[in-house]
Amino acid sequence: MNIHEYQAKEILKSFAVSVPNGHLALTEDAAVQAAQSLGGSLWVVKAQIHAGGRGKAGGVRICKSLDEVKAAANALLGSVLVTKQTGAAGKEVGKVYIEEGLDIASEFYLSLLVDRESECVSFVVSPAGGMDIEEVAANQPEKIATFPIRDINTCDTGKMASFLGLHGDAVTQFDGLVRKLYQLFVESDAAMLELNPLVLTGSGDLVALDAKFVADDNALYRQEAIVAMRDLSEEDPREIEAAQFGLNYIQLDGNIGCMVNGAGLAMATMDMIHMKGEEPANFLDVGGGVTVPAVTEAFKLLFSDKHVKAVLVNIFGGIVRCDIIAQGLLEAIKTHPMSVPVVMRLVGTNEEAGQKLIKDAGLDVYWADDLDEAASIAVKVIGE
Ligand code: GDP
Ligand code: MG
Repeated sequence: MNIHEYQAKEILKSFAVSVPNGHLALTEDAAVQAAQSLGGSLWVVKAQIHAGGRGKAGGVRICKSLDEVKAAANALLGSVLVTKQTGAAGKEVGKVYIEEGLDIASEFYLSLLVDRESECVSFVVSPAGGMDIEEVAANQPEKIATFPIRDINTCDTGKMASFLGLHGDAVTQFDGLVRKLYQLFVESDAAMLELNPLVLTGSGDLVALDAKFVADDNALYRQEAIVAMRDLSEEDPREIEAAQFGLNYIQLDGNIGCMVNGAGLAMATMDMIHMKGEEPANFLDVGGGVTVPAVTEAFKLLFSDKHVKAVLVNIFGGIVRCDIIAQGLLEAIKTHPMSVPVVMRLVGTNEEAGQKLIKDAGLDVYWADDLDEAASIAVKVIGE
């Protein structure tokens, strides 16, 4: 689960990590009030969307007067920001975060992630932080280093600090920062925490200027405060709807809608479609203890997706009963007619009953005995 920058900074603050003072604003008047209450003469107005790359897309505006704050908030609120990470459709800006402007001496990159290779939490750092980190990664990979943390108590943060080129008091600050971030990461069940940039100010303070926090979904049950930060308006409405029915659904870019039972079989189905020259429109695992309403919902999701040009049903029923799948299809078409070809591989528990329900209803579907055949048909009918 993703949260906004301002929320990530609230978490950072609660672990005593230094962040700029700031206030959230939903209107331009509130933005001006926020700037007034922050005081000073330099502010930054930042679009709050669940995507990075805002700086380069005009989503981060440095303002030298209250009039500029007002104009920046006015320009951003309600606008659609297209960044490298949003996709072409962009994301609508509903909130801006107003921060005190800082005098920046250097920008660093610092992130923490669950490093499967090292089987621990690793820090990834770079002295060349800021908006060009992707180019640094591509062209000067030696400027990015990974430090696996096996034991935070005996961790030598000096190596990291020296890789970043820090000196004097900044080294001491950095040691404290690493320990706080590690504690935050573990206690908050994070999957990823990124500060880009982490800055050294003109007066020598290390401050998290930007923050991205990704929660580990499997631990949300024990992270009430983080769950409360969820912003559904930033998430894919189709995925939210699917989750309400206990479906594991992820929207993808292709044209063949898939309905499969079991994550492994769903992955294999997607691979098979890819190998035959098309791409899946989604990942959908209906799971084991599936019900008619859930299957109905799943078919509705597939039939209402304008990118879906054919639907491939790959059910290998063990716990899942094929007649439940068939009933779900019959329910779904009452409101969502089958407007695209449907290929059915429906085998396993109660397969005769399931196939009979569909045949008796007179539905014109393509039948396949195995996955290979099903994928071939789906790819072929799309071509026609
Ligand atoms: P992102 O592009 O979505 O990652 O947004 P960031 O929060 O990283 O902001 C982009 C850039 O804006 C930073 O790398 C800074 O160079 C600049 N920036 C952000 N806040 C300040 C500030 O308070 N003062 C100054 N001078 N620059 C800032
Ligand atoms: Mg950034």
